[in-house]
Amino acid sequence: MLSIAKMRTKLLFGNWKMNSLKAECSAFLAESKNLLALSNSKHIEIGLAPSYLYLDQAIAEGNGITVYAQDVSDEEKGAYTGQVSVSMLLDHSVCGSLVGHSERRAYCNETDFKCNLKIKKLLKAGLGCIYCVGETLAEYDKGFAKDVIKAQIEVGLMNLKGLDLSKLVIAYEPVWSIGTGKNASEEIAQDICSYIRSLVKDMYGEEVASSMRILYGGSVKPENIHSYLKQNDVDGALVGGASLKADSFAKLIENC
Ligand code: PEP
Repeated sequence: MLSIAKMRTKLLFGNWKMNSLKAECSAFLAESKNLLALSNSKHIEIGLAPSYLYLDQAIAEGNGITVYAQDVSDEEKGAYTGQVSVSMLLDHSVCGSLVGHSERRAYCNETDFKCNLKIKKLLKAGLGCIYCVGETLAEYDKGFAKDVIKAQIEVGLMNLKGLDLSKLVIAYEPVWSIGTGKNASEEIAQDICSYIRSLVKDMYGEEVASSMRILYGGSVKPENIHSYLKQNDVDGALVGGASLKADSFAKLIENC
């Protein structure tokens, strides 16, 4: 178990949300070569999820940095105003997408069932997916965190047999820690990430579970990233605010 765990390459992913205009993207991407060299030297994978409008720019100026969308439609094509399909991501050489971010669950009524359809579409197309799960503060306070996570994993990941699960990453992001500066303790992050791994094991077996990367997200900063990454079951971080500027992203990599 430990030797397989050691083989999981650490992953640091920036979620830019609805931030950064063209010039700010360019300023960041001008540093992408340095960021990639730094991450390679530390054997860490890095990636970015800019807004749809800037995906092409990130691919053109990013020197090969992994670029994901922040969401994708579960529909193939047709009358779905405002949505973007998996085929469109493929057509633009986008490598994958986040699915089920808590802001989409909260503001766009994203359900675990919808997330499951999206995950299946992405994996069937050979694209990557970072599936976000996490409990709200009220759920945490009532002691329901694991019940919420269990449902999100069991429904979100149902019927994935036969698909390439090496392209699937799970991000544990307690809603109460996102953008609040109130990060979960490293003990909580380890406890829930290890719980997620055990749920994946129940669904898809030991081999899949021990090779799946599970990230922590929620107010990760250069000052606290190391405390998460040294946990056995935390294989990296999904970072919002601290990923927007190249110097802060570089510090995150340095401190991994
Ligand atoms: C996120 O949006 O996925 C996130 C973790 O944000 P922040 O790092 O700003 O809390």
